[in-house]
Amino acid sequence: MNFVEVIARKRDGGELNAAEIGTFVRGATDGSLGDEQLAAMLMAICIRGATTAETRHLVEAMRDSGDCWRLGEAFPGCVDKHSTGGVADSVSLVFAPLVAACGVPVAMMAGAGLGHTQGTLDKLAAVPGFQTATDRAGALQRLEQCGACFAAQSTSIAPADKKLYALRDITGTVPSVPLITASIMSKKLAVGAGRLVLDVKWGAGAFCKTLEQARTLATGLATVGEAAGERVRVLVTDMNEPLGRHLGCASEVRAALDVLEGRGDERLRDLTFELSVEALVLAGRTREAAGAQLHDVLATGTARAKWDEIVSCHGGDPDPSRLAVPRRTATVTAGRAGHVVAVDSEGLGWLAVALGAGRRRAADHVDYAAGVVVHARLGDRVEAGVPLVTLELGDREVDLPALLARAAATIGISERAPARLPLVALAFGGDA
Ligand code: URA
Repeated sequence: MNFVEVIARKRDGGELNAAEIGTFVRGATDGSLGDEQLAAMLMAICIRGATTAETRHLVEAMRDSGDCWRLGEAFPGCVDKHSTGGVADSVSLVFAPLVAACGVPVAMMAGAGLGHTQGTLDKLAAVPGFQTATDRAGALQRLEQCGACFAAQSTSIAPADKKLYALRDITGTVPSVPLITASIMSKKLAVGAGRLVLDVKWGAGAFCKTLEQARTLATGLATVGEAAGERVRVLVTDMNEPLGRHLGCASEVRAALDVLEGRGDERLRDLTFELSVEALVLAGRTREAAGAQLHDVLATGTARAKWDEIVSCHGGDPDPSRLAVPRRTATVTAGRAGHVVAVDSEGLGWLAVALGAGRRRAADHVDYAAGVVVHARLGDRVEAGVPLVTLELGDREVDLPALLARAAATIGISERAPARLPLVALAFGGDA
């Protein structure tokens, strides 16, 4: 097969068959296709889309590019959770100890930063010594010891997603419903937790800018998961402003600890709670019992202690004083009084990337100390001179005046208060 012809057909809007998609995925897995051809195909799919059949072939080929762990067979009731990519979204770091503290095993196949969003793997890597599981034995050992396992794509599991994920991150090919579906579901099915809670983001800071796009993605994800025998519960949630207030790896770990300690950002806490209830309901609790148990493990400190246990079990140092701190900070303030009518989460996400909290090229190292703190919330009434956004600087050389100007442009202030959007817009799935 001449793969140039396959790329050209997709470029021109043609439909690819299972064999052609298999060649693409094999090329990503074993290196038989170069990065330029893989990136060209990703861009063709991003622009032209993919049919339901093409998406299914892509999911299956990517799932089968490595091992399938079937963790739900070894740990019945096991739950996995995934978000389609958000800003200031450290839900996974709170969800895992919270749900595991309630006795429900959590096996989470996480991802690194993608585009303007920061990924769970990068945040976990900010914890000194933290090692995610990359093979089945490692995953089982962590689940047995602490009731939770964070895993990453590797040469053993979902290797095709590992390669394509990294290429998409640096080629502007992230916001594609079929590519997101294949990326998420291939690795979720490879882990095989049996139960899956999905947080599909919609809005200006999400890859799906409209609720309709998010609904399409959410339905597609649930359909693929359920066809493979997983029980899937999906929430479509608001990303028209950052979820929490902190962007950046070490900073997001601290934000998660704040929630586990009963403080922290309200939106981050509320959404984590909602998703955790869904996980416990999938595991057989009633909604009321789930809510009561989650409140209890938070209030008694059991969930906070579970975080330390999970970190230690993954080889990490749970001492929060070991997390990286910014070298210095710089803050932009409000030039006028009024209501906050825009908080550009995508712009803030790219700002965090520019500071070093994400990658612009594959070889970039992530600066764990770098980040952004967002003080302004949609609808807040602010006075002139109050802090809006703080840049947290790590080691990367940056053009600070230019970044401060970009930071100022992320916040819109006007006379009239904006309409409030619900945190959870839609919820569906999960039937036995
Ligand atoms: N998370 C993933 O794992 N993949 C995507 O494409 C988007 C979010």
